[in-house]
Amino acid sequence: MAKNALITGITGQDGSYLAELLLEKGYKVFGLRRRTSTPMMENIEHIKHEIELVEGDLQDQGSLIEAVKKSKPDEVYNLAAQSFVGTSWAQPVLTGQTTAIGVTNMLEAIRTARPESRFYQASSSEMFGKVVETPQRESTPFYPRSPYGVAKVYGHWITVNYRESYDMYACSGILFNHESPRRGIEFVTRKVTDAVAKIKLGLQHELRMGNLDAKRDWGFAGDYVKAMWLMLQQDQPDDYVISTGETHTVQELVEIAFRHVGLNWEDHVVIDPRFVRPAEVDLLLGDNSKARKKLGWNLEVDFEELVKMMVDSDLQKAMVNSKLEKAVAISSLQNTKLEA
Ligand code: NDP
Ligand code: GDP
Repeated sequence: MAKNALITGITGQDGSYLAELLLEKGYKVFGLRRRTSTPMMENIEHIKHEIELVEGDLQDQGSLIEAVKKSKPDEVYNLAAQSFVGTSWAQPVLTGQTTAIGVTNMLEAIRTARPESRFYQASSSEMFGKVVETPQRESTPFYPRSPYGVAKVYGHWITVNYRESYDMYACSGILFNHESPRRGIEFVTRKVTDAVAKIKLGLQHELRMGNLDAKRDWGFAGDYVKAMWLMLQQDQPDDYVISTGETHTVQELVEIAFRHVGLNWEDHVVIDPRFVRPAEVDLLLGDNSKARKKLGWNLEVDFEELVKMMVDSDLQKAMVNSKLEKAVAISSLQNTKLEA
């Protein structure tokens, strides 16, 4: 019989790739969606008729219990969060309520309504923060450097605690940065590839950036959601680091992206203190050997391919948008002439 899955954060980058993967595997997919005045459905537009959306918010316990009762999930993937590190200094309380306490709300909903469901928590390499060893592995102590990182540490430990307290099948995936054409526009990869595309087309002239020396272990989101699924198919629940095992500076990212369209980054990038963070995570590099060995997980897209894929996608989007804008401008000019 087909399995049921409930995904929180279905409208986000990972939620949309995971939904595609589970649909391919024959799952009935339910997605928790919070009410917003202007719904952002871009990432799931192409699959919206194949999934069932249930209304709910991680901060509203009752809505989560109802979502679990309605979807009767065999597997719950908790991907919803205030996920942007930069915003977590501006909205630390909301970040704690969603990214930390939201995990307990979801776990309690499962414990109350369907304790046999398997649970995946979207933990983060940001928990390693000011790293105490390199590479970072499952046993590396946490030292978070932002309200986001602190909230994710809570989410990680409450997941472990529910596994140990109630014998729930609960896993924490410690995922290093992963990107795609569906990445939120404020994250550094997408900010760069979007700007490169617009600069190439003459729609923008400069790119204002923060710290170019930070190093990240960047992978492709489409590869990483496969690891989430694999974690919930094992005999025993456990925690896994998911990473590429390679690290690159923000400057390397910028160089590759500009070079891909035949431009020199130094002609366009301006350092702007507004984008420098109060506390930085200087270096992330994950050791993925446990996931490779125990889950049989593997990567398909490398760093350079990822950056080029994102630049190409943003070029397409920018061209379509600029054609649309021109068409709208011409039609309003024609209307003005007709009226005159
Ligand atoms: P996104 O920011 O793209 O998506 C976040 C999702 O959470 C959106 O669907 C958003 O909905 C939803 N959401 C936010 N607040 C609430 C709330 N209060 N109730 C219900 N839904 C809410 O994140 P990603 O897809 O990139 O990441 C998925 C998860 O993995 C996140 O938890 C993130 O912190 C974590 N993670 C991500 C990494 C990465 O590199 N991408 C690395 C490690 C961990 P809406 O559309 O309404 O805003
Ligand atoms: P994070 O690792 O979850 O914080 O992912 P981000 O993509 O937001 O940031 C990755 C790194 O890029 C961090 O070290 C940032 O300080 C650095 N960075 C440098 N300039 C920028 C910028 O303009 N925007 C963002 N988001 N990050 C920047």
